[in-house]
Amino acid sequence: MYILLMGPPGAGKGTQAANLVEKYGLPHISTGDMFRAAVKEGTALGKEAKACMDAGKLVPDEVTIGIVQERLAKPDCAKGFILDGFPRTVAQADALKGILKELGFSLTRVVDISVPNEALVERVVGRRICKTCGATYHIKFHPAKQDGVCDTCGGETYQRADDREETIKERLSVYDAQTKPLIDYYQKAGLYSRIDGSQSMEKVFADVEAALQMCGQNV
Ligand code: ADP
Ligand code: AMP
Repeated sequence: MYILLMGPPGAGKGTQAANLVEKYGLPHISTGDMFRAAVKEGTALGKEAKACMDAGKLVPDEVTIGIVQERLAKPDCAKGFILDGFPRTVAQADALKGILKELGFSLTRVVDISVPNEALVERVVGRRICKTCGATYHIKFHPAKQDGVCDTCGGETYQRADDREETIKERLSVYDAQTKPLIDYYQKAGLYSRIDGSQSMEKVFADVEAALQMCGQNV
């Protein structure tokens, strides 16, 4: 399955991607995670990405398309993938079409996790991530058993630099302006399913699965 998860920041893409990874064993390709890894490593890409991320803006298309192109060509993507946070612009969606064509893959489904903006601010500001294994928590909706400590690996949890109230407002307006047009883009391609992401994590996952089954290619 070649799955694309769409949705505004904080909608639950990473949370549902983790469920899909556990169930189907497909690689989770998150451009946000790739940029954060580059920032941590202090590479040139990381330096360029950090300035955009901290400001709540998008990293330029050429840079983002390049890293995705490289990643999708790796052998582990041949049997499928879960793309999370890419594409975020029409130019990226057009580029993805070309990349997939070249690789001989076609998208199974675009699943859009929809959550109203009012709820997203609370979700993003309360998000905590494990520094070691990347597991995601929320201080209210999914707290770690011991504050600041990952349940899975015992690593320390932290708040992303861009998960502050000031930045999330900018990220949401960037989403509305640059990413929302992709709803129409994928509707026209007959690939689009919208899911109510304001439900419980378990119910959202059930709906993601139903959307994947709908297209008759569940594996
Ligand atoms: P995204 O990857 O779309 O930015 P995440 O999966 O990281 O979003 O989720 C954002 C925050 O909201 C996290 O702290 C996560 O634990 C929490 N969260 C995810 N799904 C739900 C849900 N259905 N209900 C409540 N909180 C959720
Ligand atoms: P995310 O982890 O998906 O919330 O992404 C965090 C940040 O990384 C975004 O606010 C952008 O600055 C950058 N980013 C991630 N994916 C993309 C993308 N497809 N295009 C441009 N910038 C991106």
